[in-house]
Amino acid sequence: MEKLLFKNIRAVVTCDPQDQVLWDTDMLVEGPEIVHLGKNLTADGARIIECRDHFLYPGLVNTHHHFFQAFVRNLVTIDRPNMTVMEWLAEVQNTFQMVDSDVIYYASLTAMADLIKHGCTTAFDHQYLYTDRTGTEPIDRQIEAASLMGIRFHAGRGGSTRSIEEGSFVPKAMCESTDHFLADCERVIRRYHNPEKFSMRQIAIAPTQPFSCKKETFVEAARLARQMGVRLHTHLNEGEVVQMVQRCGKRSLAWAEETGFIGPDVWIAHGRETTPEEYTVLARYGTGISHCPAPTFYGATEMLDIPAMEKAGILISLGTDGCSTNEGSSMLETVRLAYLMQTFRNSARTGCPRPYDILKMATVNGAKMLGRSDIGYIQSGMAADFFLIDVGTLEYAGALHDPKNILAKLGVSGPVWMTVVNGKIVYENGQFPGIDERRLAAEGEQVCTQVLRNHCKVFLRLANEM
Ligand SMILES: [Zn+2]
Repeated sequence: MEKLLFKNIRAVVTCDPQDQVLWDTDMLVEGPEIVHLGKNLTADGARIIECRDHFLYPGLVNTHHHFFQAFVRNLVTIDRPNMTVMEWLAEVQNTFQMVDSDVIYYASLTAMADLIKHGCTTAFDHQYLYTDRTGTEPIDRQIEAASLMGIRFHAGRGGSTRSIEEGSFVPKAMCESTDHFLADCERVIRRYHNPEKFSMRQIAIAPTQPFSCKKETFVEAARLARQMGVRLHTHLNEGEVVQMVQRCGKRSLAWAEETGFIGPDVWIAHGRETTPEEYTVLARYGTGISHCPAPTFYGATEMLDIPAMEKAGILISLGTDGCSTNEGSSMLETVRLAYLMQTFRNSARTGCPRPYDILKMATVNGAKMLGRSDIGYIQSGMAADFFLIDVGTLEYAGALHDPKNILAKLGVSGPVWMTVVNGKIVYENGQFPGIDERRLAAEGEQVCTQVLRNHCKVFLRLANEM
């Protein structure tokens, strides 16, 4: 079994239940597991890694993303001035309909690379785009990508079952029947879902959003997930509530409650329209919220009152969200954005969470949200998922006395020094071991150009207008 011995780590921020920070410590990893933390450790046959200038943190857990959107970044056509929401949506969906399974694969590699370089070791992706072009392959292609990059991957099988003609905002070409959706959920669960300790692959059933699905889809999704022992996820309270009230006379959460799509095995993305009365509903059911700060900035939408939500008992984790409302996949940036947003809302000097509290949302809470007890903090017996930053460089001088708070408070924006997933080094000193990053980047750029840029009318119009 492969052994890694990290020597003289300047500080280990464990995020464990005692919130320990261990100074000048060694850590031994054997196979997928952290087996020992302490001073003066030795291990025959281990690779010794000197960490005198490094802080070590538990791997970050991303609880909401849409990998495929990595190839619709940096489009000025999509975020033009004076657009209505419907115009914006039409532009985005125009582009989405061009996506094929190669775009899914290379965009997933791009997102995963960004995640790994910025300390993320476990990624959940909400893949809801299914058309004739993608077929039912997206999750298979994402798992192929995750296997290459070495990231721990939770795939959400999303999908829409209500088209524009039936009162949603989703083109028919991007909709499936409930039966088709459920059959593919069952297929990917049987094929990939591994509930065991140190599992690298899990599946969640994740119909896209209450407004874009029929009620039966949510009812049957909840039934199938519980029958097969997987979790449930959706977008909820993310801007659709008024339309839900108009269509069915009730708010999204009450609608979800009626369908059975609520409970400790369910987590929702955004939750920004959640009212104080709904805090108690979520807390009572044990349904958590994946907070995605970047889209709040982009859309200038409601900011979560995290202290009030946590006080009510709601579990809150962090997500990057997809690139059409973020542009990037950095969880380190997400940690900093979440902190800054809370200081803007509640002031760093009054009711704002501590920077370290935000880090724990991205580690401990993220693990709980995905139903994992083997990741999220550093301790013997836990999975060897962590990252290290080199703090021996000049920009950190004068800030090293408090490793717990440094990530959210200072912000660490560049790539980390090393990322380890399940006991394997997946990123080290600017390199993905065994991967030709530049070749993959060139292939990805080519696929993006061929499939999206050359065929999509938004690009053609951009060329004409600018
Ligand atoms: Zn989303």
